[in-house]
Amino acid sequence: MGPGGGFGHGKLKFDEEEAKPDISKALLLRIVKYFAPYWKQTLLVMTVLCISAVLGLLPPILIQQIIDRALPDKNLQLLFLLVAASLATTVVSGLLGVLQNYLNSFISQNIVHDMKNQMYRHLQSMPLQFYSGVKQGEVITRMTSDIAGIQGVFNSTIVNCASNLFILISTAVTLFIMNWKLALLGILVIPLFIVPTRKMGNVRWKLAKETQEKISEQNQIIEETLSLSGYMLMKLFTREDTALASFQTVNAQATRLQIRESMAGRWFMLVLTTFTSIGPMLIYLYGGYLFIQGELSIGAIITFVALLSRLYIPVMQMTNLYVDVNRSVALFERIFDYFDMDPLIVDAKLALPSRVEGQDIVFEQVNFAYAPDKPALSGISFTAAAGSLTALVGPSGAGKTTITNLIPRLYELDSGVIRIGGKDIREFTLHSLRSQIGLVTQDTYLFNGTIRENLLYANAEATEAELTAACEAAFIHDFILKLPEGYNTVVGNRGIKLSCGEKQRMSIARVLLKNPPIIIMDEATSSLDTVSEYYIQQAMHELLRGKTSMVIAHRLSTIMAADNILVVQDGRIVESGQHASLLAENGVYRDLYNKQFQREDS
Ligand code: ADP
Repeated sequence: MGPGGGFGHGKLKFDEEEAKPDISKALLLRIVKYFAPYWKQTLLVMTVLCISAVLGLLPPILIQQIIDRALPDKNLQLLFLLVAASLATTVVSGLLGVLQNYLNSFISQNIVHDMKNQMYRHLQSMPLQFYSGVKQGEVITRMTSDIAGIQGVFNSTIVNCASNLFILISTAVTLFIMNWKLALLGILVIPLFIVPTRKMGNVRWKLAKETQEKISEQNQIIEETLSLSGYMLMKLFTREDTALASFQTVNAQATRLQIRESMAGRWFMLVLTTFTSIGPMLIYLYGGYLFIQGELSIGAIITFVALLSRLYIPVMQMTNLYVDVNRSVALFERIFDYFDMDPLIVDAKLALPSRVEGQDIVFEQVNFAYAPDKPALSGISFTAAAGSLTALVGPSGAGKTTITNLIPRLYELDSGVIRIGGKDIREFTLHSLRSQIGLVTQDTYLFNGTIRENLLYANAEATEAELTAACEAAFIHDFILKLPEGYNTVVGNRGIKLSCGEKQRMSIARVLLKNPPIIIMDEATSSLDTVSEYYIQQAMHELLRGKTSMVIAHRLSTIMAADNILVVQDGRIVESGQHASLLAENGVYRDLYNKQFQREDS
């Protein structure tokens, strides 16, 4: 890019460098790779574009023949022939256009298709950390609008560029063949409009970027103040006036920018139409002189002027090509950013599927932090014997959930080791490890489908008898039968139509269907009525029978039944043992018992 920093006045002054795309060879290669499977179609598109460019030259040339030959000779036959040829050219061009459109969408939609599949697979392998950190809606934006934008890259940037190039070359060659002096004259004025096109393109690009920023600022205010929780916050702290004022300010700025952007477009057109009309005027002037000298025909002058626009329009479009390229590359980069994120938790090279049934779970000096310098777990060591029930108790935020999430490797340890049957869990394939662990969380996730579909998610091959048996064992079968459509009842988004106790029993039934040797359960804390409570207890009893289980316990009956209780506080295990001996210790457990569990002990 030339040293164009001096251009522009007042507010329109800007740094041209900003619009410069920064495309490395590696990035380009990576982009090209997505097109590679469709090279045949791409080649065909290029051929079609090439033919179209040449065909586009014919109508002006045919007009020249009409004016210079058919009309002066009063040759009606030739006139018909030329008009028919002109018509045929239009039809063929149209047909080629249809073919090109088909190929365009074939290639671009297939690339979008491939990318979406790749992205879905990649996002599936991302760790839980990624989903707790990512902004809501961002994943969907990447998957849909960003990837869909790639389609435009092919259709507008690549195809446009190639088509313009072919038109430019074929027209320039034709002009020079017709009359090199006139061609030179027509080309001489090109710099006149390249410079303003480029400058104005930059200005518009910058204004568009600023507008975009303002609009996202606006969206952020809307999101923060007009969403359910944001609205509550605003109302409770009576911040309506401030919110309104900042919204109005940003709104006014966005409006001003948008007006400026569209005006920049108008001025731009004014300058351009003036400059582009200079070329034809010069042709009429000099061509007219040549005509008077008897060196040129009228038809040639008219054809020349007509062809000139085929020269100027591609030049103008290509002048700001780099803006499109920049935008396209940015789009690819945003997508690649996602692809480059490390899945973190993957199978080790030597990982093998292994069985965990009848094996102890052992934590050895496990340390873990969600964020640097903020340890969530420090020096956690314990053994959960095969077939035993281990209860985790402790205040909220102590680290109980974190401990249980480490077993199916939802998070990776910072140091220490977790073994099952003496084997580091990192030596298990993730699939074999996770398929042998059943997780019953407090917040049971049910998707918006029928009860049957939700249950079969755990084991698609389960028979009707197994389904019923699991639901009976989870004490939910009778409840389901009472629903209007029984097992075919739709549960609503996130299972909104079921109570908390019912959802947890569904979750238990789901894990029973999966029937894994290790069970991890987070007991529901929300107060349940005695009937639900009773059913949950019974269901849990069925679930945990004969399994190695770890339960984040909120009920006295659970800790009483536990073979071992781990008391967790501030990311450490501070006490462990059975209920009676822990009570006798007169420590943290006793405190906790007095505050939390004693009420139930009656
Ligand atoms: P408990 O289950 O005992 O209530 P947790 O294991 O959920 O406790 O949390 C332990 C600590 O880790 C808390 O301080 C909590 O704020 C923090 N924590 C939990 N989950 C995350 C997360 N996804 N990202 C960052 N910090 C977290």
